[in-house]
Amino acid sequence: MTRSYAMQLDRPGAALRAVERPIPSPGRGEVVLEVSACGVCRTDLHIVDGEVAANFPIVPGHEIVGRIVAIGAGVDGVSVGQRLGVPWLGGTCERCFYCRLGQENLCDLPVFTGASRDGGYATHVVADARFCLEIPAAFGDVEAAPLLCAGLIGYRALAMAGDCRSIALYGFGAAAHIIAQIARWQGRDVYALTKPGDVASQNFARSLGCAWAGGSDQAPPESVDAAILFAAAGELVPEALRIVRKGGRVVCAGIHMSDIPSFPYADLWGERSIRSVANLTRADGKAFFELAARVPLRTTTQVYPLAQANEALDALRTSRIEGAAVLVPEHR
Ligand SMILES: [Zn+2]
Ligand SMILES: [Zn+2]
Repeated sequence: MTRSYAMQLDRPGAALRAVERPIPSPGRGEVVLEVSACGVCRTDLHIVDGEVAANFPIVPGHEIVGRIVAIGAGVDGVSVGQRLGVPWLGGTCERCFYCRLGQENLCDLPVFTGASRDGGYATHVVADARFCLEIPAAFGDVEAAPLLCAGLIGYRALAMAGDCRSIALYGFGAAAHIIAQIARWQGRDVYALTKPGDVASQNFARSLGCAWAGGSDQAPPESVDAAILFAAAGELVPEALRIVRKGGRVVCAGIHMSDIPSFPYADLWGERSIRSVANLTRADGKAFFELAARVPLRTTTQVYPLAQANEALDALRTSRIEGAAVLVPEHR
């Protein structure tokens, strides 16, 4: 095979279209992977909708599992055929204030996979070898894909929630279905808040050990120590503040959210806090995958052929995915 093909987004609002091109060659420090699976993340929808910046035309996809087919100059310690994961953080400047501080997730000049450089909705992808992650052998390609963003950034959000005994998760999609398993394994009580009336997601949450599941218009049976918002709806932020106890934290895990409506200061009073979580560090990736194998995490996936990327995005948009959607290329 000498040709690669990808599902490309030409501009915000367009449908992705199939494009064919030669298999890329790796530059210095890069590897080329043959993609075996790529998760579909809500961020991809935000890119399609023009809510998150991207370099158009762009091939989306930042939950990539693949095997090395070519290695560029200056890359050590990897071999052809080796499996690697490519996450959202595809590169950093290594010079800015945040990089020097060890907070590479906040880099001023970051490279984001599937946004500033082509991602994994493709048969092949080029990646900076230093930002690729090793995936424990216990995970198959498809089940590992959602771990690379939903799992990883969800894990960072869980860490931001602090040392909580009870936690509420708003939006029970790809990230929450992974984070609920970690939180349960850590001995925390987990409450799931879904779209009102979404009984299927509520049953799914209970099947993963959530102590209670209901609509976001309801409140869990007791106030919680922390809440994580995986849903992109800003109106849920004041709702979440009202269900956390004094000193509790509300963590916004998404890259984009609709505006947060104003709310009484009394709801923030009592040392409650709101914070966002941005991106990931390579250290997060290493720590998360060690934990993922120990739990061990089980991802629920819905597989689509790569050519049906538009259908997968549409299913995610209309909440028809249980767990995570994963694209699998048909290698010819
Ligand atoms: Zn930087
Ligand atoms: Zn993502």
